[in-house]
Amino acid sequence: MPVVDYGQYCEMLNRARAGKFAYPAVNVTSLTTANAVLKGLAESKSDGIIQVSTGGAAFASGSSIKDMALGATSIAEHVHRVAARYPIYVALHTDHCQADKLDTFVMPLVEETERRRAAGKPNLFNSHMFDGSALPLRDNLDIAVKLLERFRKSDLILEIEVGVVGGEEDGVHASAAAKLYTTPEDTLEVARRLRAVSTAPFLLAATFGNVHGVYKPGHVKLKPSILKDCQQAVVAAIGDAARFHLVFHGGSGSELRDIHEALEYGVVKMNVDTDMQYAFTRAIADHCFKNYDGILRIDGNVGNKKAYDPRPYMTLAENAMAARVMQAAKELRSAGTTMMR
Ligand SMILES: [Zn+2]
Repeated sequence: MPVVDYGQYCEMLNRARAGKFAYPAVNVTSLTTANAVLKGLAESKSDGIIQVSTGGAAFASGSSIKDMALGATSIAEHVHRVAARYPIYVALHTDHCQADKLDTFVMPLVEETERRRAAGKPNLFNSHMFDGSALPLRDNLDIAVKLLERFRKSDLILEIEVGVVGGEEDGVHASAAAKLYTTPEDTLEVARRLRAVSTAPFLLAATFGNVHGVYKPGHVKLKPSILKDCQQAVVAAIGDAARFHLVFHGGSGSELRDIHEALEYGVVKMNVDTDMQYAFTRAIADHCFKNYDGILRIDGNVGNKKAYDPRPYMTLAENAMAARVMQAAKELRSAGTTMMR
C-alpha cells in the first residue's frame, strides 16, 4: 500500500490507542534499512512508522553533501515508491529536531510538502518531531505552537517532547540533572497550548525515566504510571477528546512489562533505533568473521568475490533487521493489526 494519507494516519493512531498497542517507529538511514522495516512490518501484518533522524538524513545524502533535508527527501521518495508493493500501511516521520536545526531539516521538508500539495500530490512526510525538551516548557511550547499553526494547513502531525530523555541521541547528550520525569501539570499545559491552535491529533513524548541508547535491563528506572497520571489529569481538566497519543522514546533495553504497562496508558508509537542498529550490524559482523579469508586479500591472494560483494551481507543485514522489526511488532502488539484488508 502507499504511504498513508492524513485520514489513514489518524485512524492508525486512534486504533492503536483504543486497542492498547503501539507502532514500531524505526529509524532508517539507507535504502536497505528502509526495505528491512517494510519487510518486517509486512511479515508481521503490522502497519508502522519509518523515521529519519537529523544524523541519518545527513548520512543518506552522502558524506560529501551532508544535507539533512536532501537525504530525508531521498529516503522518503524511495519509501513512497516501494511501499506500494507491500501489503501494509506505513507513515513517514522525521525524528528529533532541536530548535537550531528546524531551518535546515524540518522546514525545508514542510515547504516541499506544501509544494507537493499545491501540485495535487501527497505529502512528502506525514509527521515531524520538534524536540524542545532541552528548553524551558514555555519556550518549547512557543515554538511548538508556531509549528502547529503551519503544520495544520498541510495535514502534518506534530510530535513534541516534554521532559528530558537521558542518554545520547545523535550526539546530543542530556545532562545528569535533566528532568527525567514529566509531570501532569506540564502535559496539561501542552494540551492547553496546542489545542488552542488545533484539536487535531498530535504526538507527545512525555518522559517517564526513559534513556536514549542502550542500557542493561534494570539500569533504567521507568515509571510508566506517570503516563497514566498525565492522561487522567488531561481528561479531568479538558475531557476525553484531549486524551494524548503518547510516544515512547529511549525504549531500547526496557523491560517488557514496562513497555506493556505504557501501552495501557496510551503509548501509540515507540521509537526503536539502537536495537535495530545492533541487529543490522550483528549480521554483517557474523558474515565477516565467518568469511575472513575470502573477504580479505591475504598474502597476495585475490580473496573471494562472493564473500566481499556487499549484496549478500547487506541482504543478511536486511533480513536480520526485518526479524528485529517483527520482534518489535510482536512486543508492541501491533502484529496482525494492519488496516490493510
Ligand atoms: Zn526523545
